[in-house]
Amino acid sequence: MQEKGLLIVLSGPSGVGKGTVRKEIFSHPDTAFEYSISMTTRSPREGEIDGVDYFFKSRAEFEHLIKQGKLLEYAEFVGNYYGTPVDYVRETLDSGKDVFLEIEVKGARQVREKFPEGLFIFLMPPSLSELKNRIVTRGTETDDIIQNRMLSAREEIEMMELYDYVVENDQVERACERVKAIVTAEHCRRERVEHRYKKLLEVE
Ligand code: 5GP
Repeated sequence: MQEKGLLIVLSGPSGVGKGTVRKEIFSHPDTAFEYSISMTTRSPREGEIDGVDYFFKSRAEFEHLIKQGKLLEYAEFVGNYYGTPVDYVRETLDSGKDVFLEIEVKGARQVREKFPEGLFIFLMPPSLSELKNRIVTRGTETDDIIQNRMLSAREEIEMMELYDYVVENDQVERACERVKAIVTAEHCRRERVEHRYKKLLEVE
């Protein structure tokens, strides 16, 4: 029987740089896991391609997918829906490949409930002031919105306890190296591999 792949979930507070770390990981040709492209109702940003960056959907289409049970998880974030297509994830895991999700924390909590055996990595900013800097320099948000985002970030950081590993995003390259090292280690975890080696004993 084909051994299942590993479900890897990278999450963390808004503004921590999840997207940047994910893009950096997938820019390396040696990356052996598959990125699950999310569905979203937000409009494409300049340069974004449907089916590459996201599957862009209308609200009605997205709500239909929810009703049909086609999403492993979904969440509303800054007025738009985001969700993970369940068929792609299950089929890819069944084919033995690792699947990588980069999602916000509410969605990650839903995945933890459905896939407790997944590998959950929390990306952490070096400090709250650094996170604020990133949110301020990223966009055109007003002071009120920035205050709100900082409040949500505190709540999001408290969700760290649902995760297996915490990676500080002090520097993108270093954070990627740590994520990849964690995945490698997870593949060697005794509980995951011992059945394979016990079979060897049966043959001898
Ligand atoms: P952006 O609009 O900047 O691409 O993404 C906004 C947020 O949505 C980011 O925190 C990103 O990680 C998160 N996100 C992207 N895809 C998904 C998804 O499929 N599910 C959930 N829950 N969050 C997602």
